[in-house]
Amino acid sequence: MNISVTANLIKIRKELPLGVTLVAVSKTHAPQVILEAYNLGQRVFGENKVQELVEKAEALPRDIEWHMIGHLQRNKVKFIAHFVSLIHGVDTLKLLRAINKEGNKLKRVIPCLLQIQIADEDSKFGFSPGEVSELLRSEDYSSFENVRIRGLMGMATYTDDEEQVTREFTGLKLLFDEIKTQFFADDPGFDTLSMGMSGDYHLAIVQGSTMVRIGSAIFGERNYEF
Ligand SMILES: *Cc1c(COP(=O)(O)O)cnc(C)c1O
Repeated sequence: MNISVTANLIKIRKELPLGVTLVAVSKTHAPQVILEAYNLGQRVFGENKVQELVEKAEALPRDIEWHMIGHLQRNKVKFIAHFVSLIHGVDTLKLLRAINKEGNKLKRVIPCLLQIQIADEDSKFGFSPGEVSELLRSEDYSSFENVRIRGLMGMATYTDDEEQVTREFTGLKLLFDEIKTQFFADDPGFDTLSMGMSGDYHLAIVQGSTMVRIGSAIFGERNYEF
C-alpha cells in the first residue's frame, strides 16, 4: 500500500472547510488505490471516462458515490444513468435531454451540474452565461422531469497566474448566485458550485466553491497504463 495516499487525503481533508465536498478524482488509478481512500472513509469519487467508471463501479463497494466529471457523450449516458450520483459536465441542451430520457426509462431523477466555460482557452467545454439562462428559460428544459440541476461546474485556465484564476472563479461564483436567485429561488437543492482542482482548490474555496475535484494531490501522478 502506498502510504502517501493516506497522508495526502488526511492533509487535504483538514484544509477543507465544512460544507465543501471532496470529490477524489481516481481516474487512471487502480481499484486497490481507490480502496485505500475508501478505507479512510472517502465515499465520493470522480472519473472522467465512461468505461473506466463502469468497470470501477462494478468492482468496488456499492456505497461509493460516483461522479462523472469528464466530457460525456450522449450515446454513453445509458451506461452510467442507473448509478451515477452526479454528472458534472453537462454542456449542451442535447446532452441534458439525453440524460433526461435515460432517467425517464429508469424512473430516476439524475442530478446534474451545468458546466460553464470560464477559462481562456476556446477548447474547453461549457456554456456561456447567456446560454445557461437561455437553457433554463427554455420550454424543453421545463419539460424535463428526470434531471435535476444541482448547480454549476467550471475549470479555470491552467496557469500560474493566481489573479487570473481568482478572477475566473469569482466570475463563476457571481453567475452561480445570479442563476440561483433568478431560477432556483424556491429550490434549496441548487446548492453545488463545483470548482477547484489540485493546483487551484485553495483559490476556489476562498471564492465560494462547495465542491472540489482533487486527483493528483491525493493519488499522485496519473498512471496512464490503467
Ligand atoms: C482530472 C480532473 C480533475 C482533477 O485534476 P487534478 O489536477 O489531478 O486534481 C478535476 N476535474 C476534472 C474535470 C478532471 O478531468
